[in-house]
Amino acid sequence: MANSRPPHPIPMIVLLVDDQAIVSEAVRRCLADQRDINFHYCADPTQALALAKQLNPTVILQDLIMPGVDGFDLLQEYRASPETKDVPVIVLSTKEDPKVKAQAFELGANDYLVKVPDRVELVARVRFHSEFYIRARQRDEAYRALRESQQQLADRNAALVSLNQQLEEATRAKSEFLANMSHEIRSPMNGVIGMTTLLLDTPLSSEQRDFVDTINSSGESLLTIINDILDFSKIEAGKIELETHPYDLRHCVEEAAELVAPQAADKGLELVVRVDLAIPAVVIGDVTRLRQIVVNLLSNALKFTAQGEVVVSVDLCPATKGGEIGLHFAVADTGIGIPREKQDKLFQSFTQVDSSTTRQFGGTGLGLAISKRLTELMGGTIWIESEVGRGSTFHFTIMVHTGTAETPAWHQAPAALRGKRVLLIEDNAAQRRTFTQCSGLWGLEIAEAASLAEAEAALAAPGVRFNLLAVDGSMIGPDLAKGVARLRTLAGGAAAVLLMLVHRPRAGDAASLGADGLLIKPVRPSSLLESVVRAVTGGPAEEKRAPVASAFTESLASRLPLRMLVADDNATNLMVGRMLLNRLGYSPDIAANGLEVLGALEAKIYDLIFLDVRMPEMDGYEAARRIRAKWAGSEAARPCMIAMTGNAMQGEKERCLEAGMDDYISKPVRIEELKALIKRWGARQVARKGSATPFTSKG
Ligand code: ADP
Repeated sequence: MANSRPPHPIPMIVLLVDDQAIVSEAVRRCLADQRDINFHYCADPTQALALAKQLNPTVILQDLIMPGVDGFDLLQEYRASPETKDVPVIVLSTKEDPKVKAQAFELGANDYLVKVPDRVELVARVRFHSEFYIRARQRDEAYRALRESQQQLADRNAALVSLNQQLEEATRAKSEFLANMSHEIRSPMNGVIGMTTLLLDTPLSSEQRDFVDTINSSGESLLTIINDILDFSKIEAGKIELETHPYDLRHCVEEAAELVAPQAADKGLELVVRVDLAIPAVVIGDVTRLRQIVVNLLSNALKFTAQGEVVVSVDLCPATKGGEIGLHFAVADTGIGIPREKQDKLFQSFTQVDSSTTRQFGGTGLGLAISKRLTELMGGTIWIESEVGRGSTFHFTIMVHTGTAETPAWHQAPAALRGKRVLLIEDNAAQRRTFTQCSGLWGLEIAEAASLAEAEAALAAPGVRFNLLAVDGSMIGPDLAKGVARLRTLAGGAAAVLLMLVHRPRAGDAASLGADGLLIKPVRPSSLLESVVRAVTGGPAEEKRAPVASAFTESLASRLPLRMLVADDNATNLMVGRMLLNRLGYSPDIAANGLEVLGALEAKIYDLIFLDVRMPEMDGYEAARRIRAKWAGSEAARPCMIAMTGNAMQGEKERCLEAGMDDYISKPVRIEELKALIKRWGARQVARKGSATPFTSKG
């Protein structure tokens, strides 16, 4: 019968072990037309095992009765040898004998045939066992490969685990580094911000106030940078929390603009702030995070704009939600713009539109990603409209609760201003708009001139006299004094007052330019009002107090007399701490490290100790532990300990509390926070002792 089935892809190898050549001949004939079956014959049973090992057969046909060698013994040898233990063995017997059969199977035979078998049956069985064996071999091979790759995986996993450990180590080192850096940067910033806060409470001209405000804002901006770095790590870890405090919204946006104003001045860009007058002055939320978003967008706008203007505006959104109102911010520039296809990816971290511009402009590609996350946390969204070559507008919304409904002081102008005629000479339309918005409130009559020619025409018009000229300094040519003089003459000499709007502070040169006052752009309405009042009424500058000043006016110490000690190794910070407390009516003693604190405690009784955490010789933690230990039996008499630290890392507060401190205040220290803290802990100290005893340390 012809072999009709397709040949097996792997050749089968048959080894016949039989002393009778005639059997071999018969089997050979049976298998002759099976092209995929290779037949081998071994007549010498003593060679059978060696040959089997060498040939690697897929089936062995084994005779049982041979001279000198027992077929059963051979069977056992096959099974005992690793190379042949799984090779199928078909026993060839001379007759059907149940006993023999049973023994053969017991010793490991796979099949049993009576000699000489029928051809079809032989071929079928040879094929069946061979194929089974080949499949088993393949399966074993696959298992082996699998085990091997599993091993490789396990090895790689182990390598990854160890790499991960190294990375964790590196992350720890990074956090440590960040903590150190934030401490190092925050410490001197405490000096800058604290001192300017104090300076702002002294009598200052509005120009000086502007300078100090700028120093203050720059300090805040440095803090923003360090906070950005910390933020990114926190955002990555999904650990960012927003504050909810009342704040002055306009103030926040103006501060953000003032922060980037020097950049705008450097590039000759017009920077305009417009806040809708209908927006409540005080809203409740996270002022730092809002300022961060606005500063981000403003810096980008200025970075990618070579000429024209950057306008930040805030309007009310129609959307309200459970007592919250929506605010819509827009930062519009006239810069390079962003191609449509790049706009979608903009808010992903580390994304920059064009790496070549990035090289030109610098940046990390984090700003927008952080801004997006923050707006979402504030219940809003962020989006962009842009056209290449024409500019971009970044929009975002946030939801806020409204604070007190008070009208800001600058909304009301003295009656003397009503009906005064003002000529505004300003070529930037957005800038004019903010100016006219305010003058409307104050009852001024305003005329606008977008160019010098228009201004001259307005001044020359018969029967029109202006009380005030407000002129953009950049419009009157290189010789400012000459330009001012000319305008003055046209306006009728000394009868009109002249205010000049400039892009950057120019120390003390208003008079030298012949102007009655200088205002730095972007102009705050409150400063504008002050200058206008001073210029128009001719009266002395009204000494305006910064909002923070109100905190100083009332003496907390008279209500809550406490003996205090401030410890800081940094002399400036020590002074800031002491002076802030002075403002609240306290006269704290000072110490430069933990040892000095312990020394002071030996000599005197204190109610409240402010402890810097990092100090030489003995740090704040150790001092706190010692103080706790010392008063272990008499907690009521123990002074209250407040940590004062520049370290803004997570876990810092816990560390301070663990060391035994009662509370924590982070640098730069804000007077309001300080007050709240003193109220909380001071009241407790007084209550503990049962009465507010008179104190000696108050100066
Ligand atoms: P970066 O630190 O690089 O500025 P951002 O996330 O703030 O990071 O901005 C990402 C990229 O978006 C910028 O590198 C710039 O390519 C593009 N971009 C942002 N703002 C503007 C803008 N006002 N005009 C043009 N391109 C902008």
